[in-house]
Amino acid sequence: MSHNCIFCKIVRGEAPANKVYEDDHTLAFMDIFPVTDGHTLVITKDHFANLFEASTEALLAVAATAKRVAHALETVVKPDGLMVFQLNGAAAGQTVFHYHMHLMPRAHGEPLALHARQPGDPARLDELAAALGAHVRDKNRE
Ligand code: 5GP
Ligand code: ZN
Repeated sequence: MSHNCIFCKIVRGEAPANKVYEDDHTLAFMDIFPVTDGHTLVITKDHFANLFEASTEALLAVAATAKRVAHALETVVKPDGLMVFQLNGAAAGQTVFHYHMHLMPRAHGEPLALHARQPGDPARLDELAAALGAHVRDKNRE
């Protein structure tokens, strides 16, 4: 646990987030500066700075959550494609030093960007989190 880490604060409920899904090891929520509609982050609940520090157990749990959220994005956002990426170290473009994976819906012909400068529309982020969460919960019951 890291006291000044924004993602640890989200895990502890001390900072707000548009949560999609959580389990013992992972949490998925909407990126607050979405590059595309549906841009979602999957994080480990434990604080690891990056892939090098993260435990294999936590990484496997992130992969399982990413797959659940990917299927939800496929149904809810219906993108042409889905980009999954994860940055390690400032040189790679990492800006939040708590392990996280990006799930970014993509459209044909769209320019490639890893970060955005504009915050997402709060109502749209709420709507997406609710719809994606409902889809994941539905699939869990099957
Ligand atoms: P990185 O560059 O480290 O791979 O990505 C960090 C991501 O976290 C960025 O896409 C950024 O928009 C997002 N982000 C930064 N702070 C917050 C926050 O407080 N809440 C949410 N939901 N996303 C954040
Ligand atoms: Zn953290």
